[in-house]
Amino acid sequence: MDKAALAGALGSPSAFGQSQFALTRGNAFEAKVKADGGAELLRLVHERLDPGAEPPTRAAVPDLSAIGPEGRTARTALALREATAASGTWTLLDHPMIALDVAGSPAFLEPDAVVVHPDGGWTVVEIKSFPMLDGSADPAKVGAAARQAAVYVLALEQVAARLDPPPRVRHRVLLVCPKDFSNLPTASAVDVRKQRAVTSRQLARLTRIQDIADALPEGTCFSPGLPAEQLTAAVEAVPATYAPECLAACELAFHCRDRSRAAGAVTSLGRSVRAELGGLTTVDGVLAAAHGEAGDPADPAVAALRRAARLRAEALEAMCR
Ligand code: SF4
Repeated sequence: MDKAALAGALGSPSAFGQSQFALTRGNAFEAKVKADGGAELLRLVHERLDPGAEPPTRAAVPDLSAIGPEGRTARTALALREATAASGTWTLLDHPMIALDVAGSPAFLEPDAVVVHPDGGWTVVEIKSFPMLDGSADPAKVGAAARQAAVYVLALEQVAARLDPPPRVRHRVLLVCPKDFSNLPTASAVDVRKQRAVTSRQLARLTRIQDIADALPEGTCFSPGLPAEQLTAAVEAVPATYAPECLAACELAFHCRDRSRAAGAVTSLGRSVRAELGGLTTVDGVLAAAHGEAGDPADPAVAALRRAARLRAEALEAMCR
């Protein structure tokens, strides 16, 4: 489903995504990096990841246009196969489309670029508009880019596995950013083996979409055209555990935050708070435990809350004296 449209229909439009200004600036930088048939981008790939190969003085840039995500995915797979077979040459795939099986359904992904090396290896390229100052960038942003690239690596591995022999999908990706405060591109190789392994484990553990759908009441529908009450009921039918981290990652965050606060769920205060509180899942339950009205005194979380409540009461008493 289109979660942004669903959030709007629920009355909690998402603020998720980049500002128009950031998007325009990002697009302009990406166009600059890929100008002249990707000459600068390929130079950076050669310099940072494959300096032993022939310099990319000439490179193929196949047309990947096709109708619909399935058509574009098939076109990309064909271009990858042809580029891998044409050994000894560089190929740049600009905005290819690859599919990844997520919980039994295909998710269509669009990396900024994939480069096929002369030895047939494939490299993911991510182009970001945050600056690289003196050769290093904000670690949190680099980490997010590495996690994103790791998903593309996994999807490319599924494509590669269908070729005989399967080409090597490189686990070092190229991160391209503006150099210092200019708009000149610079790049750094990022090893995504750890992120790839974590994502692979998470994907393997996901409940299949079919199983989630089977557990829903008959007739549940998420169409944004439905009245808000009906949509709210449909969304409520799917268990969700809101945490502040959702704000940076999910279009439904404002909706889930409102519901979570209304229910007094402690996860709305953060996953670490939830972990500290053990079996106490609501703010009311926590307060009752702290005031000795509920909870097992042998539970370490309950004991800690009661001690904290005692200390607070003593401190307040001392202040009022
Ligand atoms: S709980 Fe978080 S991730 Fe799940 S739907 Fe709500 S906001 Fe999105």
